[in-house]
Amino acid sequence: MTFDRISSIYVILLIVFGAIMGSFFNMLIYRTPRGLSILGPSSFCPKCEKPIPWWGNIPLLSYIILRRRCVYCKGTIPLRYLLVEILTPTAYVLLYLRNSDAGMVQWGIEALFVSLLIIVTFTDIETYLIPDIFSIGGIFIGLFLSPWNRNLTFLESLFGVIVGGGVLLLIAYGYQKLRGVEGMGGGDVKLLAMIGAFTGWKGAIFALFSSAFVGTIAGFVVMMQSKKSVSRDDNGDSHHGNTLSTMIPYGPFLALGGIGALLWGDDFWRWYLGGF
Ligand SMILES: [Zn+2]
Repeated sequence: MTFDRISSIYVILLIVFGAIMGSFFNMLIYRTPRGLSILGPSSFCPKCEKPIPWWGNIPLLSYIILRRRCVYCKGTIPLRYLLVEILTPTAYVLLYLRNSDAGMVQWGIEALFVSLLIIVTFTDIETYLIPDIFSIGGIFIGLFLSPWNRNLTFLESLFGVIVGGGVLLLIAYGYQKLRGVEGMGGGDVKLLAMIGAFTGWKGAIFALFSSAFVGTIAGFVVMMQSKKSVSRDDNGDSHHGNTLSTMIPYGPFLALGGIGALLWGDDFWRWYLGGF
């Protein structure tokens, strides 16, 4: 089945669907790294832990109506909730426009991939964790779906997992030998392997280099900022905890690189290899 033409009905449906999924992802982002069940209890305020009534739980709308406040304790609802409920439908609509010829199956595969990237981006930012259920789970889903994925073959997907996981594993191992500290978590290794499962080995390499590039710039900016304001060291319980450079989670940059690989990976390699 193809989408035959861009229809505004589909766009509206995807915005609603994306906002609902975003709301679900917000729950996953909060609960999965903390080992909480996603089956119950129903949504509660992370501050006062009182259950949120149904009218306080409508994606996007409740956030705007309640003006970012919990109904009970008036605690501020983190901006991340709104961000994910905007990012997800936006991604779904853009993937729809991109896949209007390729059909719903291709849209579904890419939407699943981007959804996983959105989830791990925020778990990594908030807890320095990329839960295995999303990275390793994503590796298997990406491999399993690869025969239907127009962007690659099963073998390319398999090599994507091996190259993505293997290269980062070597870098992480080398860094640890060289510096004596853990620079990169195992979560990043599994995440790049997952990106490889959906974008192939070329995609994994593209994601690695583009994320290193953007990550280095971001790290530099943060370093400059922290030199200006006298180093505020309120993050003593951080997972890495030694220097500022390692306190920036790398997962979000890998996720960005993964989206880059999905959108521009093929064009980049054609351009790059064509240059010789
Ligand atoms: Zn509350």
